[in-house]
Amino acid sequence: MEAALDNIDSTTIIDGKAIAAQLREDLAAQVADMDTKPGLAVILVGDDPASHVYVRNKIKACEKVGIKSYEARMPEKATQAEIAAEIQAFNDNKNVHGILLQLPVPGHLDSDALVQMIDPAKDVDGLSFINQGKLIAGDKSGLVPCTPQGSMMLIRSVRDDLSGLNAVVIGRSLLFGKPMAQLLLAANCTVTMAHSRTKDLESVCRNADIIVAAVGRAKMVKESWIKPGAVVIDVGINRGEDGKLCGDVDYDGALNAASAITPVPGGVGPMTIACLLQNTIKAAKASS
Ligand code: NAP
Repeated sequence: MEAALDNIDSTTIIDGKAIAAQLREDLAAQVADMDTKPGLAVILVGDDPASHVYVRNKIKACEKVGIKSYEARMPEKATQAEIAAEIQAFNDNKNVHGILLQLPVPGHLDSDALVQMIDPAKDVDGLSFINQGKLIAGDKSGLVPCTPQGSMMLIRSVRDDLSGLNAVVIGRSLLFGKPMAQLLLAANCTVTMAHSRTKDLESVCRNADIIVAAVGRAKMVKESWIKPGAVVIDVGINRGEDGKLCGDVDYDGALNAASAITPVPGGVGPMTIACLLQNTIKAAKASS
């Protein structure tokens, strides 16, 4: 077995809440120095209660750092053309620097097509083909999806030099797994992308200095999968059998093996909104 990254007399619990709070403070200071205040528009379609909560939280977070928020609430039955028109209006609005289509949208809509209608310069979710391409090309002018961006900051909070480390990303979604793998690659990690067809995931993980789990299966990653000293980033949000919120990693077991780990809640989650604010400010600065 390879040498462990760290001795694991104690595991660092990566405090995403505190790191996100610090980031928001820095962002508020940046906004205070800007002549034109950044603006973020959120388009919310339908009545999904969870989406309403997410949007409310995003708007509150904007207010706290001085970003002006705009909201378009569309009925459940809104058509593709109606939403496209709303996106176009925000694309044309000079006071709006970031546009977010809250996902998922109702099933009759083509969400992929709608996302691609957002001006890439305002695509604060980083899902447009332009921003995805920039990420792959290493062009730093692009907007990087928020959760991978935040996860990377959490990894960096415990380990600055990632060069040559083996990293495994479990999950290959466009929103998280793929951009996360690109960020790790750009940091000179040797990256393995695992997914539902990966054979012997346990061995794949066991070889990793960094494990990033984004699957959506409660406590799937066990202590025995974790190389002693590995850094573990748990992106999953699930309800465990006890009804409590939990991640994709068996947290209590992982504490015996990992040198650092993110808790759920309080790890990756808070970073997502903070990075959304960061992207909005970046977009506003680039437009001026
Ligand atoms: P997703 O689009 O459903 O993707 C899940 C991925 O997991 C897929 O690539 C899938 O593989 C893979 N997978 C499924 N079962 C697997 C298995 N048994 N072994 C290995 N891989 C498996 O989900 P997502 O949007 O990326 O989100 C993943 C999780 O992260 C969810 O719990 C979500 O709630 C959470 N999340 C949290 C935040 C946050 O802010 N904290 C943000 C985004 C997502 P295939 O591609 O082969 O199907």
